Amino acid sequence: MRWPIIRWFVALLIALPLGTFILFPTLWRCLTIVHASDFQPVKAGDRTLYISTDATPRQRDLLFSHVQVASARIRQFWGRQQGKATIIYCPTQDQYAQYCSGGEGAGCSLGMPWGDSFLVLGPEGNSPDVMAHELCHDELFARLGWLTIKRQVPQWFNEGLALMVDYRFSSGGSTARERFLIYDAEWKYRAYGPEGLSPQVVPVLSSLETTRDFFYGDYSRVMLAYLTAGREVSRWLATVGPSALPRLISDLAEGQRFMDVYQFAHIRKAGTSQKNVQSANSPSH
Ligand SMILES: [Zn+2]
Repeated sequence: MRWPIIRWFVALLIALPLGTFILFPTLWRCLTIVHASDFQPVKAGDRTLYISTDATPRQRDLLFSHVQVASARIRQFWGRQQGKATIIYCPTQDQYAQYCSGGEGAGCSLGMPWGDSFLVLGPEGNSPDVMAHELCHDELFARLGWLTIKRQVPQWFNEGLALMVDYRFSSGGSTARERFLIYDAEWKYRAYGPEGLSPQVVPVLSSLETTRDFFYGDYSRVMLAYLTAGREVSRWLATVGPSALPRLISDLAEGQRFMDVYQFAHIRKAGTSQKNVQSANSPSH
């Protein structure tokens, strides 16, 4: 009786990595980056950067300086940096596509159920904005873990939060209210301006909850999804103040439901009832 169980267990041990390799080759490459001969490991604090041997000395220098700038933004926004994602830098698109599924965007972050995380930067990713954005995803992951993020955190909140340290839309010197006004103006322009989109296709928050829904559609639609997320999170932070984020994180870590805690934080400060709360769910234009 014992042998079939052992045989089954051995088969599982072989099938798991094999399955991972076949189904998720990019994931497998990240997990085995330590053995990749075309990447050089470099220590930066308590984090390891794997830099492609294709990177030029200038690209390497810029990478180190951008990591410093991005980490400073993270410490300013979160209070302290807890994320320990392994950073993988691929200066060519071909190599980037090997480590980030589809090779889309400038960077991507991958979190594992057991706590490891990877931040893959492509040719466009050697920038403080892209790094700060991806590192912000990693901070949320470090504080809440894979399961809580999957079950509780809507993608629009994760992306909106990352936009607060990514200054491609807003500037670093903006106050919370200024940041909201910038996102609001950009959102209105994209949603109802010369782009010609009709109000029916403007995404609402409830349609941006999963990764799949958030990144669905063409460039214009995904950009609008980002702006909707940035507009909502900047509005939330401008309304409830910076102390709301650590409170929200600790409530989620205790097992509370996202929408209960998120709405509650908003309502408590606003001192109003739920039906009077205006959010990006009910756009005014
Ligand atoms: Zn993102």
